[in-house]
Amino acid sequence: MNGHSEISKMQSDAMSSSVLYPKLDRKQLLITGSKGLMLIAEDGTRIIDATGGAAVACLGHNNDQVKEAIIKQLEQITYCYSQFFTTPPLEKLTQHLTESTNGEMSKVFVVSSGTEAVEAALKMARQYFTELPQPQYQRHRIIARRQSYHGNTLGSLAVGSHKARRALYEPMLNTQISHVSPCYPYREKIKGESDFDYVERLAQELEDEFQRVGPDTVCAFIAETVCGGTLGCVPPVSGYFKAMREVCDRHGALLILDEVMTGMGRTGTYHAWEQEGVIPDLQTIAKCLGGGYAPIGALLVNRRVVDILNQGTKVYSHSQTYQGHALACATALEVQNIIKNENLVANVAALGPYLGQLLQKELGDHPNIGDIRGRGLFWGIEFVQDKSTKEPFPVQKQLAGNIHLAGTRKPYCISLLPGNGTADGKNGDHIILAPPYTVTK
Ligand code: PLP
Repeated sequence: MNGHSEISKMQSDAMSSSVLYPKLDRKQLLITGSKGLMLIAEDGTRIIDATGGAAVACLGHNNDQVKEAIIKQLEQITYCYSQFFTTPPLEKLTQHLTESTNGEMSKVFVVSSGTEAVEAALKMARQYFTELPQPQYQRHRIIARRQSYHGNTLGSLAVGSHKARRALYEPMLNTQISHVSPCYPYREKIKGESDFDYVERLAQELEDEFQRVGPDTVCAFIAETVCGGTLGCVPPVSGYFKAMREVCDRHGALLILDEVMTGMGRTGTYHAWEQEGVIPDLQTIAKCLGGGYAPIGALLVNRRVVDILNQGTKVYSHSQTYQGHALACATALEVQNIIKNENLVANVAALGPYLGQLLQKELGDHPNIGDIRGRGLFWGIEFVQDKSTKEPFPVQKQLAGNIHLAGTRKPYCISLLPGNGTADGKNGDHIILAPPYTVTK
């Protein structure tokens, strides 16, 4: 087939399918099997899933132990309404999660995705202030960061700052949310500035934003502990989160850490905040909670927030039909048991620096690679047109969007997660690597 007829075949295949594909006229590759690191397409093409989908498949695919746990749970209870009932997997999973924080986070609300966990966190932040012995009903604002991504519903999109994803819905987004700079040293640290001074500058910017909107109107500051989708695996510089925490504490606002991409081991500790010397008031997790075996996310609530609710109405004002879904919880529990029993977080911590060194060695000198950064098994590569000026490629020539499936030579392709939004929050150019925790050297 020549190129032209291949495209028209792809288009007619797409039109005859009932799937609402991301690109309506592009039929997607049909995946019919998987094992470990590999996805297997209908025609037998094997694809190395180097990013575990969207940084999700932390155990790889088709794990026998997880499958057995799912079958076992199917024979017991798959769903009952958690507004009225509880189940063993919900009890055990939430206990595992609070223990993973050393008890700092003392309650867990289980939902079905990262976005829902973020929505639950935002609502919990608001509720906290209405439950204080002296309620602060005037607190309704959230301060977030530019170039962040927190999900795709109208609430989570409003706290996020992914320009392309927001654009169409801008008139519908909550205007009580404002944004400060992310911690993005590659592009935003001034030449010659020390980490200390950079952190001071960012803390001052947050302080100024509190003052601008009125410190007693702010519920919370929300940030990704290690920036994922929009910036491409950017860890904060040392001391950044301590400084942000101080500003929040000064004004009595909560700190929400969005660990949807980084939670449950991805960065070499169960929670990325463990490496920052801060403890959030609210935390979200999702991707490596269920590892792709179940759609699941969770909100983790700090003891001090729980205490206030316990002294107040004792009612969490948010609920969802599928909260605490028994089958999803049993699945995630097995994923977490495997991570624990096989000591996989330690494997992430050990192999992360090795992967970073390897990327630097192989790619660091490439004229179109501006920055390689990451933590644990979570690495981002940012492309530039000019290494010395950090000038990005013009939009039409950006690399990341063109290498979702790299190296199309059969039988192997590599699937990477392309990103956008690094350089100006709209047109950046990076890819993410997030291999399973089970990888070897
Ligand atoms: N928060 C962060 C930091 C994310 O990276 C994502 C997804 O990439 C989300 C929230 C939204 O999660 P989901 O796509 O599961 O709704």
